[in-house]
Amino acid sequence: MSAASKAKRDDPDLDVVVFEKGQWVSYGACGLPYYIKGEIQSLDDLVSVTPEEFCEERDIDLRTGHEVVDIDPDDAVVTARNDDGDVTQAYDALLVATGSVAVTPPIEGVDREGVYTLGSMSDGKELREYVARARSDGNLQQPDRGPACQFLETCHGPVGIVGGGYIGVEMAEALAANDFEVHLFQRGGRVLKPFSEATSEAVLDHLAGQNVAVSLDTEVRELDGDGAVEAVVTADTRVPVEMVLVGTGVRPRTDLAEAAGVELGETGAIATDASRETNLPGVYAAGDCAEAEHVVTGEAVYVPLALTANRHGRAIGRTVAGRPTDGGGVAGTAAVKAFEMEAARTGILDHDVARDAGFEPITESIEAKSRAGYYPDGGTVTVTLTVDRPSGRVLGGSLVSEYGEGAVHRSHAIVGAVTEGLTVSELSNYDLAYAPPFNTTWDPILTAAKVIDGRR
Ligand SMILES: Cc1cc2nc3c(=O)[nH]c(=O)nc-3n(C[C@H](O)[C@H](O)[C@H](O)COP(=O)(O)OP(=O)(O)OC[C@H]3O[C@@H](n4cnc5c(N)ncnc54)[C@H](O)[C@@H]3O)c2cc1C
Repeated sequence: MSAASKAKRDDPDLDVVVFEKGQWVSYGACGLPYYIKGEIQSLDDLVSVTPEEFCEERDIDLRTGHEVVDIDPDDAVVTARNDDGDVTQAYDALLVATGSVAVTPPIEGVDREGVYTLGSMSDGKELREYVARARSDGNLQQPDRGPACQFLETCHGPVGIVGGGYIGVEMAEALAANDFEVHLFQRGGRVLKPFSEATSEAVLDHLAGQNVAVSLDTEVRELDGDGAVEAVVTADTRVPVEMVLVGTGVRPRTDLAEAAGVELGETGAIATDASRETNLPGVYAAGDCAEAEHVVTGEAVYVPLALTANRHGRAIGRTVAGRPTDGGGVAGTAAVKAFEMEAARTGILDHDVARDAGFEPITESIEAKSRAGYYPDGGTVTVTLTVDRPSGRVLGGSLVSEYGEGAVHRSHAIVGAVTEGLTVSELSNYDLAYAPPFNTTWDPILTAAKVIDGRR
């Protein structure tokens, strides 16, 4: 919809047709955990522009309930299927923006009733209904029922979450806030693996105090039950559950494009050039179905996030309206809220990835006050920086703080340094804003930059 809106705004004479197989467009899937939590009351609240507004105010021919089933690049025609049959549509330029699919790992029992993924508005609706049902059933467990329940007078569930990525963590918050006993199973040695170790540790400590029992280095072997799911089975435990959320990542939805001869890259997502054009002339791809180039390495990566989808969509809209536009690369910047903490990451933190790109990475983490020491309240910000030792180039950063103490907004300065290829010494000279309610004279980012610059 970003591409459609921009193309139409730049060239109102264009005929812009959008096929959407579902009923929802321009929705913020990112808000679903907070809808399930109950902080957002209606799915409609997650919609930024309604189908009516697209059609009536933006003059876009939006056809919901139409699934594109074929792209014929030779004749430049797509075929879409709706309840009344098939329709064809000729095109001069085509954008494939088919998004991603929530991955369900090959765990026995993953298709049982009571096992959910969270990839779409309808998934969000089902999960919210589950929460409401469980709460109104009054199925309250006693406090001694499980370790995660020890702080609650009563709790629902228990429920299991498979995966400690951002959806797993956000859903742990959504369920625990509704008084569920939550068990989170993570295959690797830490939660939020794309973030720094210091960030993962801080979030893990915090989860432990929030009625979430986290099992690290734990591979889920089976979701057991007699019909509906009743237990999460690992190598050495069998944890009774009433519901399981599987949050083990997404894969690009590429079948339609592949069948038309669109080439995929090594990541498995659609390969494009800088203007997001695929190997088929006039056929573009963007968002969760496509690759993007990393600003540090220049390599194609798959980082399916909302801003990239919007930005690349908008760039394609401008391009097809006559102004060729490069949508820019990605730094892998991401943010997450975990109960009363917030975290952000950007760039390259993984030393193996950095070495493969020809760098000699070093990493340092520092803790600093989030506000002037004499100013009331405040907390701690932990800043991790990864730097190329010989050149001093800032490769990546990760920050964590109490919610509201600025880890996420501070990360934007590091995004700038990573994107512009600055050295850590240049970062340490950034003229950042300062006033006591917001930071110390030397913001924690500047302190981190000075420390790592001195040690390299
Ligand atoms: C629970 C959750 C939380 C998230 N949180 C964040 C966050 O905090 N920050 C962040 O940056 N990102 C977040 N994301 C990711 C973000 O939502 C995606 O990156 C973004 O929606 C991608 O946009 P897109 O247009 O590429 O794909 P989508 O938004 O998935 O849209 C693709 C659309 O294509 C339609 N479609 C697919 N195939 C066809 C077909 N053949 N014919 C017609 N229509 C078709 C689908 O129905 C879908 O509506 C989150 C995602 C989820 C699920």
